[in-house]
Amino acid sequence: MMQLPLAAEIGDFAVDEDCLVVDSRRLTDIAADIGRTPFYLYSSARVEARIRQLRDALPETVHVRYAVKANPMPELVTRVAALTDGLDVASAGELDTALASGMAPEHISFAGPGKSVEELRAAVDAGILVNVESPRELERLQEIARETGQRPRAAIRVNPDFELKKSGMKMAGGPKQFGIDAETVPGVLAAWPDSIDFQGFHIFSGSQNLDSEIICDVQSKSVDLALSLSTHAPCPPRIINIGGGFGIPYFPADRALDLAPVGRNLAGLVERLATACPQAHLAVELGRYIVGEAGLYVCRVRERKLSRGKVFLVTDGGMHHHLAASGNFGQVIRRNFPVLVGNRVTGRERETVSVVGPLCTPLDLLADNMEMARAEEGDLIVVFQSGAYGLTASPIHFLSHPVAVERLL
Ligand SMILES: *Cc1c(COP(=O)(O)O)cnc(C)c1O
Repeated sequence: MMQLPLAAEIGDFAVDEDCLVVDSRRLTDIAADIGRTPFYLYSSARVEARIRQLRDALPETVHVRYAVKANPMPELVTRVAALTDGLDVASAGELDTALASGMAPEHISFAGPGKSVEELRAAVDAGILVNVESPRELERLQEIARETGQRPRAAIRVNPDFELKKSGMKMAGGPKQFGIDAETVPGVLAAWPDSIDFQGFHIFSGSQNLDSEIICDVQSKSVDLALSLSTHAPCPPRIINIGGGFGIPYFPADRALDLAPVGRNLAGLVERLATACPQAHLAVELGRYIVGEAGLYVCRVRERKLSRGKVFLVTDGGMHHHLAASGNFGQVIRRNFPVLVGNRVTGRERETVSVVGPLCTPLDLLADNMEMARAEEGDLIVVFQSGAYGLTASPIHFLSHPVAVERLL
């Protein structure tokens, strides 16, 4: 087995006789085993390695939580649950997955705007933490407390007055549907109902950030904000969840996030909390960072099509399974994910092609004018960095094609 320097896309994946190797198995063997394409492949070894990396870099007392929406495949969530300190869910469906994963309910939290009364009731019944997104939602929780005689556990999701700069997706700062505006939180805390068990704060500012300095800055600001809001709270917060936003590299110019400075900054924040708010624990919640690089999407070339001098590899997969790789999941400018021919990593000949799917829309593009090995019908196309926001973030019903298989290795 040798590591080829050529294909930057493959990162630290191995190659055997020009075939990509995933968890010590050749991709062609895995594909034969699964028996159909397209499929998503998730490597538990890679997820475990990533969580180990996080544990090594972050202070021991900082809780690492997994945001289930990044990849809710039940087997994967179960694997992640065993290695992390908590799960964050955003729907009753995700809550079911989280409860089935073996994670203790007290370590599951539920965020997201517009939770239905049924969802809130399910959360209270299960004894999980509700991250309250609005004063109205707090009223609904009070009603549930009255009806059921239970004391719901709740934290306030705060819409801070700052944002995560240079992020893939901003989820805070300015007017937002998420959380309660920071300036109105003191009023909400002053009138906090006895029937609700106040647990702390949840401050999530954004996603997909590769700049450790910006992440440190926003984490420090989040702790500052939580501490200043704490002075209004009915009791000291026990949980200060400062979100995450840790990004992964998708494009050639992207550099992997340096965890070391983030760990050092968190160590300082842990120290501050130890004196300012000793009963509180600090938590980060990560989705993409934990699973994103552990997943591949694999589809098969059905046809090499030549149009006015340009080669299109028409595959059996596409944007209906992998919206993000098509460039239509929040990207401003479409850029290619790392893509290559899995059974011809280097190939004898190279060519520049576009990889498309079977949908009747020009949006169905997995690679646009990319150089790769010359592929033939039946070859396997691999899209890397596909472990997060893949299948469940895609319009799977669009054009009524079969849904991709998911397999956890
Ligand atoms: C989506 C989401 C996350 C996960 O974001 P990633 O970019 O995948 O790490 C974490 N917390 C909340 C509240 C979210 O909505």
